[in-house]
Amino acid sequence: MTPRPVLQVENMRVCYRKQGRALAAVDGVSFELYEGERLGIIGESGSGKSTLAWALMRLHKPPTTTEAEGVVLNGVNLLALNDEQMRQTRWSQISLIPQGAMNSLNPVMKIRHQMADAIKSHESGWSSNRITDHIGSLLGRVGLPASVADMYPHELSGGMKQRVCIALGIVLEPKVIIADEPTSALDVVVQRVVIQTMNEVQQQLKSAMIIIGHDMGLMAQCVDRLAVMYAGRIVEIAPVRSFFRDPQHPYSRLLISSLPSPEEKRELKGIPGMQPSLLDLPSGCAFHPRCPLAYEHCTRTTPDLHKVDEQRAAACHLAKEYTA
Ligand code: SF4
Repeated sequence: MTPRPVLQVENMRVCYRKQGRALAAVDGVSFELYEGERLGIIGESGSGKSTLAWALMRLHKPPTTTEAEGVVLNGVNLLALNDEQMRQTRWSQISLIPQGAMNSLNPVMKIRHQMADAIKSHESGWSSNRITDHIGSLLGRVGLPASVADMYPHELSGGMKQRVCIALGIVLEPKVIIADEPTSALDVVVQRVVIQTMNEVQQQLKSAMIIIGHDMGLMAQCVDRLAVMYAGRIVEIAPVRSFFRDPQHPYSRLLISSLPSPEEKRELKGIPGMQPSLLDLPSGCAFHPRCPLAYEHCTRTTPDLHKVDEQRAAACHLAKEYTA
């Protein structure tokens, strides 16, 4: 059976204003997220990952602008909703566990009250018994005892706080969950527990999930497909296995070769240079100053993201275009 897209993003562009100029932090991004899928979005700092997450939630405020041909969630174009309709859609249909979420828990409020506030903001008619039961079941879903509801954030470990944040993100059982760097600032053992918790939650709710991060090793273990962002664009998107087996974009190859391998002793290669500033993007392919395969054409012409087979796409002049 062909998987059904739950979210379709078509040609999204998000611009910040700086020094009197509109700078595209996300530029021409299109992708689909399928029912029950886990899509990883990876890239260096400043590649546009978090800007994209905020734009999907329509959280950017003027003068930042978001334009797209469509951001369609289960048949509804989110960009066409008024503010109140969007407020109702957030958390109930699409939710974001933001970067550093565990540090944004209110330190002087018990977990119970923080979760109850999130529930009441959408479900004003719920009785307090129903809210208490729901909080207990949400905490259970993320592997925490109900007693955590009566604790303050400072009484919890980092991993427990992050699991509380996941519980807050699923308060209304959304169809799409976006987790922005959900394991940053956690040690490797706790990272695994948090990823496992997210997988379990996603399977229970049958939601689709977008996981944003920069740890390729962690992504390899927890997503179905991977999209690589560079300078505001998706430069490769592929099922995770074929991505690691046969990366199509030179940037993806360099990212993979910078990973240690448990099987093979080899020299780790860093990626020369730095992600370009939005104020001074290179002409043509934005990766060309760092690309070992760049040639003259790359300095003049920006490559489109094109299919390289039925399931993969890459934005590189050297990636062969697929024709069915
Ligand atoms: Fe390198 Fe050119 Fe491909 Fe860009 S288009 S990744 S510069 S080969």
